[in-house]
Amino acid sequence: MRILKDLCTGCGLCVNSCPVGAIDMPGGRANIDAKSCIDCGACLDACNFGAIESESERGEAVDPLDSYRGVCVFIEGAGGAATRTSLELLSKGRELADARGAALCALLPGDGVERLAGELAAYGADRVVLLEHPLLKEYSTDGYAAALETAVRALKPEILLIGATFIGRDVGPRLAARLHTGLTADCTGLAIDPETGRLLQTRPAFGGNLMATIITPNHRPQMATVRPGVMELGKKDDSRAAKIERLEISLSEGEIKTRSVGSMQALLHCSGLAGAEVIVSGGRGMKGAEGFALLRELADALGGTVGASRAAVESGWIDKRFQVGQTGTTVRPKLYIACGISGAIQHLAGMQSAGCIVAINKNREAPIFRVADYGIVGDVFQVVPQLIRELKGAATENPQQ
Ligand code: FAD
Repeated sequence: MRILKDLCTGCGLCVNSCPVGAIDMPGGRANIDAKSCIDCGACLDACNFGAIESESERGEAVDPLDSYRGVCVFIEGAGGAATRTSLELLSKGRELADARGAALCALLPGDGVERLAGELAAYGADRVVLLEHPLLKEYSTDGYAAALETAVRALKPEILLIGATFIGRDVGPRLAARLHTGLTADCTGLAIDPETGRLLQTRPAFGGNLMATIITPNHRPQMATVRPGVMELGKKDDSRAAKIERLEISLSEGEIKTRSVGSMQALLHCSGLAGAEVIVSGGRGMKGAEGFALLRELADALGGTVGASRAAVESGWIDKRFQVGQTGTTVRPKLYIACGISGAIQHLAGMQSAGCIVAINKNREAPIFRVADYGIVGDVFQVVPQLIRELKGAATENPQQ
């Protein structure tokens, strides 16, 4: 940002508009502290006298916004298969690309990952750009940030979507900083503004008390991360084909400052919750860790996994990795059984897209019953053992099922 001193009247509107206090008024004329300025453009909008111009307006250093085109999705495939979150983002990316009349491109870093391209096409990609290098075989912040930066500078997408996974949350902000653009984290809704064509990035704010829609008016690409399970997985169409391209990535070992020494089974397990088809979840009504042992038995009988409310997690009955909700994992199972969970808005935010919700609660007024497909008013310690007995009985009678 630059002040045009001749046009500045010293009105102070820009000072009030700056969210980081980077503008002051020495001698009655605005002055921007370049080190503090985050280039958000708020002062540009606030100035009534055209006395502030951005680098992009001067055509220096920054490419014009309309030179960016298309939607890119960062695909996590280092584990040998594209993650479900990546495919969910491709499905959403397809919608956004169609709304913009543009192409959808999958950015696939790794080593020997070409075999994943067919699946990416089936979920909507028009182009699959392989960012291959031996040093990208395993994830590293530096390596992936460098590869994705190369791709974005070459392809110049107007939108870039990233999963809010451990990897996405790590690489996303670094990439945004390298590209000098904004990043809206943990979006729950993405849409195109029909008037401006900008990406509307909606996410909960102020502890979930309101939904904020954020735009990136002055920089490209418009970058957003999206939590696993939030976007619906589209239908796979194996008849679709994508153009497969390879982008040369130059990397040296010295550029990668971290080294992976192994992975912990415990951490791998938590991704199971996001992709689980059956979840048996417990809340404060389970009374203690022993209550969760009962839920595990029910989950095993159904071939599912256990989840929890924040109250149960904060009581120390189960690890935080199993928390469902706004500050936990967003899930979309076929069957969600909520046991002793009241149904607070922050819990519902993470599970109400489940295919079928069964609630067991002794309070018939509990809000969870408003979203439940089936409600059982009763004591979990009577209902759950009975369900387990019935399921085990059914399994013994029909061993094939
Ligand atoms: P409670 O609300 O105490 O409900 C317990 C339920 O158990 C009651 O309905 C009761 O009738 C029933 N019950 C008791 N005994 C029995 C029994 N024997 N048999 C049957 N039913 C019984 N919460 C989350 O879950 N996930 C989040 O991600 C999350 N994020 C949050 C973020 C913020 C910023 C804030 C402010 C809160 C968040 N919360 C979250 C907390 C949320 O507001 C609730 O406090 C929490 O979900 C309540 O958990 P609960 O339903 O287990 O407990």
